[in-house]
Amino acid sequence: MAASLPSQMRACSIAKQGGLENIAVDSVEVPSVGPTDVLIKVGYAGVNMIDTYHRGGVYKLETPFTLGTEASGTVAALGSNVMDLSVGDRVASYGLGAFAEYCKAARAKVVKLPEGLGDKEGAAALLQGLTAWTLLKEAYPVKKGDWVLVHAAAGGVGLLLCQMASYLGAHVIGTTSSEEKAKIAKENGAEHVLQYGEGFVDKVLELTGGEGCAGIYDGVGKDTWEDDFKIIARKGTICTFGNASGPVEPFPALKLAAKNVKVCRPTLGNYVYTQQEFEGYSAELFKLIADGKLNLRVHGEYPFSVEGIRKSQEDITSRKTMGKLVIKVGQ
Ligand code: NDP
Repeated sequence: MAASLPSQMRACSIAKQGGLENIAVDSVEVPSVGPTDVLIKVGYAGVNMIDTYHRGGVYKLETPFTLGTEASGTVAALGSNVMDLSVGDRVASYGLGAFAEYCKAARAKVVKLPEGLGDKEGAAALLQGLTAWTLLKEAYPVKKGDWVLVHAAAGGVGLLLCQMASYLGAHVIGTTSSEEKAKIAKENGAEHVLQYGEGFVDKVLELTGGEGCAGIYDGVGKDTWEDDFKIIARKGTICTFGNASGPVEPFPALKLAAKNVKVCRPTLGNYVYTQQEFEGYSAELFKLIADGKLNLRVHGEYPFSVEGIRKSQEDITSRKTMGKLVIKVGQ
């Protein structure tokens, strides 16, 4: 079933992976839905570091493709096998193609937004919220009283990790690159915030009574990787989940033996692979928001234009942003 749909729409197309100059907004055909798809009229799209990896080529993709991995809005059309949603439902989705007036998503990656959560909050919460929550539930399941470390603590995922880990009863140490960011991280659940570099390792060991951290959540990657091994506790878990400074290099397994360390390299997609997983974790995330446990800090809203999308990517990689960036697509 479909509302009356236009045949053409504006979409952010990437014809060739590379620099910001490769971002274009073109007129393209509105995607047609397959039997298990949902077409969303996009209100807001969330901006994530992964968009810069997709555009830049850190993650190779077949071109051309439509940029963006997170959309919120209303259902505009449904595949013939999708019986549990209706045209007009307010939803959010996870998957490529979000920077467009209409976004096609697999039913298994679409969730209804609860009453009280607007399109903007939906796009601000979903991908980074699910990432933070699944890291804390599955990658290293945080326990009450644990010392954990969150790198880039004032970033989109970072601020949510700090709040959620603190809610789950952990002592959270954050890292940031500036005092301004440290202040924001402290207001959002980090007990201590340190700047990277000189003295950082000693300070973590001092705070943790010489033991180190039971869990490290590292979205920075290459630049923080070696220090992670100095501050991880015996039998601790390093969760390396991002490449903000570049991907970590291959390493010998024997590196783990010094403290019986576990290392995991999770992706959100594998934690919310099935519809049941996606909806289950989304329901937990939305409950945290409804219960007032999470502050969704939106750093900036950008227009749906070549300039707006380029600027959002420039800003998220410039290390200036604190919290979530969103693009306003619809009216
Ligand atoms: P952020 O808002 O956290 O922005 C990135 C932050 O990384 C910056 O603000 C900066 O904080 C820090 N950083 C450190 N070194 C660099 C560098 N060389 N260049 C740019 N930034 C740097 O982005 P997101 O919240 O969107 O993502 C955070 C991380 O989580 C990313 O690595 C992303 O890829 C990853 N991620 C992984 C997912 C998964 O499924 N595995 C899903 C979602 C996100 P500071 O200046 O304080 O160091």
